[in-house]
This record gives sequence, C-alpha cells and structure tokens, in this order.
Amino acid sequence: MTTWLRNARLLDGSSTDVGLADGAVAVVGPAAAVPGDDVVDLTGYLLTPSFVEPHAHLDKALTVSRAHNLTGDLLGAIAVMSEIAGGFDHKDYVARAEAALRLHLAYGTTTIRTHVNVGGDFGMRALAALVEVRERWRGLLDLELVALVAHPIRGQAGRDLRQALAEGADVAGGCPHLDPEPTAAVRICLDIAGDFGVPTDLHTDETLNPSMLTLETMADYMLDTAYEHAVTASHCVSLGVQTPSVQRRVSEKVAAAGMSVVTLPQTNLYLQGREHPTATPRGLTAVHALRGAGVTLAAGGDNLRDAFHPVGRGDALEVGALLVTAGHLGVRDAIDSLTTGARAALGREPVSVAAGSPADLVAVRAADANDLLGAASPDRIVWKAGRQVSRTTVHTDYISPSPLEVSA
Ligand SMILES: [Zn+2]
Repeated sequence: MTTWLRNARLLDGSSTDVGLADGAVAVVGPAAAVPGDDVVDLTGYLLTPSFVEPHAHLDKALTVSRAHNLTGDLLGAIAVMSEIAGGFDHKDYVARAEAALRLHLAYGTTTIRTHVNVGGDFGMRALAALVEVRERWRGLLDLELVALVAHPIRGQAGRDLRQALAEGADVAGGCPHLDPEPTAAVRICLDIAGDFGVPTDLHTDETLNPSMLTLETMADYMLDTAYEHAVTASHCVSLGVQTPSVQRRVSEKVAAAGMSVVTLPQTNLYLQGREHPTATPRGLTAVHALRGAGVTLAAGGDNLRDAFHPVGRGDALEVGALLVTAGHLGVRDAIDSLTTGARAALGREPVSVAAGSPADLVAVRAADANDLLGAASPDRIVWKAGRQVSRTTVHTDYISPSPLEVSA
C-alpha cells in the first residue's frame, strides 16, 4: 500500500505529489493511486523533513508550577530542581515525559535527544522512567537518552555515568563547566564514552564568563587523541562573547575535530545576562563563526516550562524564529538547524523529500519558508517511517465586518 500526499509544496517552491511506502519516500512525482492506497490532500501545506529536537530535558519538563527559580539564572534553577527532585516518582516522570513528547510530536518532531539527570539527588529513577518511555514509543518517535551526570565527575559521578550507560542511557553527558576541574571532567566523560563506544553530548560553557572555554578543551583533546566517537557540545554560550579571532580559532578546531554544536536560544536567553541590566548580552553561541568554519549547527528547545525556562510550546519553529530574531540567521538556515543540521548532529540518516529517504516528514499549513517560520501554523500532519502519527487542525470563525453604507 502506498500513501499518496497530493499537491505538496516543497521548500524550493515547487509542487508535487509524493508517494510513501515501506517506511520510505517511494515516489516524488504524479500520484498513481490504486484501490487500497491512502490519499492525503496537502493543498495549502508545505512538506519538509520532520523536525529533530537535539536537546530536551523531558525528566524536568512541565514542572514550573512546582519549582520557583529565585534568582532566575542557571544556578538558581539547578538549586530548586535539586530540592524538588526527591518528590518525582516513576509515574510522574513517565506522565510528564509523555505529555511533553506528545507536544513535540504534534508540532512535527519525530526524533528527540533528551538529557536525563543521573546520580546525586536523582539517582537512576529518571533514567529508568525514560527508558520505559523510549521503549513504549519506539517506532512512533525516536527517543535517545543522554546520561546527564552530576559533578564533580571525578569519583562517584564518574561511577554514576558508567552505571547509567550500563542501565540503558544511549549517550554520555555532563557539565564540565560546573565541575571544579573542568579539563579533567571533559577527559573523564570522553574516556568513559570511548570505553562504552557511545556518543558524548556535554553541556558546555553555559556561561557568559569568557574565561570558561571548555569547548576548546574538548576539541584539543579530541584532536590530540584522534578521538573516534561522535561528540556534541550543547550551549557553548561563552564562545559568543569571545573576540572574532578567538571565535574563528575555536570554531576551526571544533570543525577539525568533527564536533557538532547545539544552540539553545530559549533557555539561554532566559537564564543568561541577568547581571547586566544595561545592554544585556544574548546568551547565544557564535552561530556565524561556527557555520563559517563548517561546523554542523543544530538548534533545540532545551527546557520546557520548568525552573530553567518557564515558557515554551515544544515547537521547533519557535526555536527557529528565535534564531532569526536573536541570532540573525536567515530563514532557510534557521530551518536547516531544526532539520538537516539537527539530524546530522545526532548521527541520524539524512531525510529529504526524495525517493529512498526515510519518510519522517511534516506538512505545515504554509505557503513558503517565510510563512512556515513566521506563522508557525499549528495545522500540521506528521509521518514517522511513512505512518501518520499525528494530525492537528485548528479552525477559526471570524465575525464579518458590517457592510459600508453607501450614501446616495
Ligand atoms: Zn540542557
């Protein structure tokens, strides 16, 4: 059986029919439906690869009403989350994670990498819940789990990271910039990931302090040791406040090491810069220097309505719009960071509207790329491996204006 998507408009402005079969795009061209085929009319919709969320925190999502961040910054968020973590049980983790996951799915995201706190106040409870969620949704949405280990990583936290990878985490994680020994923390995380043969995704330099630059430490260590496994650096805020020459030097090393970078504008615009009431700096990484050096750039939502970021829809297009407004990326480049760039950062197979591609697609009611990102219509149809996994339709009734009175 083939699913025919009729009259789909693509990002390049062309219109076509698209046939999906056996989990992949089978045909791009005129539909040739036979009895038994599904036909979906996409007139008025733009069809693109589905979105990828490269950096979520589903274990903390949707807790803002329980966690008041007193200072509004990163350390305030970490402190209050630590205080309330003991109150989260398995059922609560699963329910919130699945609620957040459904939000993402309805907005067209079919792959999510989520960080999960392990060790310290969290133990392995959140990981066990997220492993259950990952398995339950397998086939409908790809969920991968990063073990976000407490610090200092030398000692117990290092053992926690190994335990988490043994108990189902897919990726090694941590926060070297918060560690008393940032350089040692980088090396320990990468070494443990190497032992397990898994990718690494580190919270990196989530600070406006320019003297904290573990991004360069990571790149140097990878280059010095010919490190072979995939490495992603998330946040990289302090790169954004370096001089242009430092941004260029570090970006070139990051490119040479083959790392990818995830920028997280929502949470970092919220958490960073509070100590600068005048000319408040933007908590963004150096997106232009990184792209200029050829680094794979992905963009994600990070925290969803919790102490780290109290608002947000779970919609990749919300993140993309911020990259245009606050990061000065072009519309197509911003969309690329939500799709192609994010897929590459996660080491996933590329997706395009072309025969042979995995059929992970989203249709959004939009006329073109500008309309897609500018209006971010909630009217979306989402396919995972060729199967329709969600459809949202919003209807608005408008009052009609009174007819103008024409004087004789
Ligand atoms: Zn994060």
